[in-house]
Amino acid sequence: MKALVKAEAAPGLVLRDDIGIPSIGSTDVLIKINKTSICGTDLHIYVWDEWSKRTVPVPLTIGHEYVGHIAAVGSEVTGWKVGDRVTGEGHITCGYCRNCRAGKRHLCRNTLGVGVNRPGAFAEYLSLPAVNAFRVHPSISDDIASFMDPLGNAVHSCLSFDLVGEDVLITGAGPIGMMSAAICKHVGARFVVITDVNDYRLELAKSCGADVALNISKCQDPVEELRRTMKQLGMTEGFDIGLEMSGNAQAFASMLETMNHGGRISLLGIPPSPFAIDWNKVVFKGIIVKGIYGRQMFETWYKMSNMLVGGLDKRIQQVLTHQLPCEEYEKAFEWIRSGKSGKIVLNWEK
Ligand code: NAD
Ligand code: ZN
Repeated sequence: MKALVKAEAAPGLVLRDDIGIPSIGSTDVLIKINKTSICGTDLHIYVWDEWSKRTVPVPLTIGHEYVGHIAAVGSEVTGWKVGDRVTGEGHITCGYCRNCRAGKRHLCRNTLGVGVNRPGAFAEYLSLPAVNAFRVHPSISDDIASFMDPLGNAVHSCLSFDLVGEDVLITGAGPIGMMSAAICKHVGARFVVITDVNDYRLELAKSCGADVALNISKCQDPVEELRRTMKQLGMTEGFDIGLEMSGNAQAFASMLETMNHGGRISLLGIPPSPFAIDWNKVVFKGIIVKGIYGRQMFETWYKMSNMLVGGLDKRIQQVLTHQLPCEEYEKAFEWIRSGKSGKIVLNWEK
């Protein structure tokens, strides 16, 4: 079969056509992949940064955002049949650690990632534990289903706190930040302000529903600019909810400055290296900071699916900017590197 492979410990990827179809165990399903979507993690693996060198075994088929149909089921699998349309949870959890046993699988300390630690979805077929497959509602398009994994990151971040009627600051208008703007408006936030350093992405965030999209690189003093924006909107006190989705230290600092007392922050962005923050802001404002990793299994998936069916899909559709056959993957990675893209989908079926 065809597969996009990290063939050796060096930058780049190769599209091979001689990879064996993965075998399935008795509790797995085999998925025939239709569409995949590219994540920032795939770009890290493509460029072969320090994290990838430490984490990814080679050779490995990469990718973890996908939609397809079940092509085979293991002998002990119930509830799935050949032909079912699925995407899947990319975190494979151990099932025996304390959190797994307590039903908190998203907190498993032994998580393995599809396309990171084990063979991934940028291929014609993927083998996945049946319990990780998620049925795609008939009214959700293949395009959107192919990136329910990162949409789930956004849903998990947004729904961690009560957003209804609240004012939200999102730092980082990458695909997950943009989708978060869409979710916040869908569930009834009052104002959503989003920041980035990239105008192309800020425009996309606006089309997803952000009320104000600020290019922070054009402001002399980002905190002053945020305060001015708050005043224009009629916000007198500060943001109630912060969604940190850039991994950038300055972005987080300006968020802490502009949060209201009692503010709540979902921290999803992954900083490239440790940084200091003004802890006094956290203490004296009584701010709650929650680290977000992946999606809640499987509450996030059910909530996401129902929100998409209930109209969120119209906003999320704005995030998809490019679509290519899998053979043109190099072009796709170039677009991502240029910063002039939202989500990019690769097609595996002609
Ligand atoms: P992305 O890299 O596409 O988006 C990050 C955005 O932040 C970019 O558009 C960038 O221009 C912007 N940015 C950079 N400096 C900024 C600043 N000073 N102020 C505001 N914005 C700034 O990433 P993504 O795929 O949208 O993911 C968002 C973040 O979440 C990334 O840090 C990613 O590594 C992380 N992530 C975390 C999880 C998790 O489970 N915790 C999962 C996926 C991604
Ligand atoms: Zn576990």
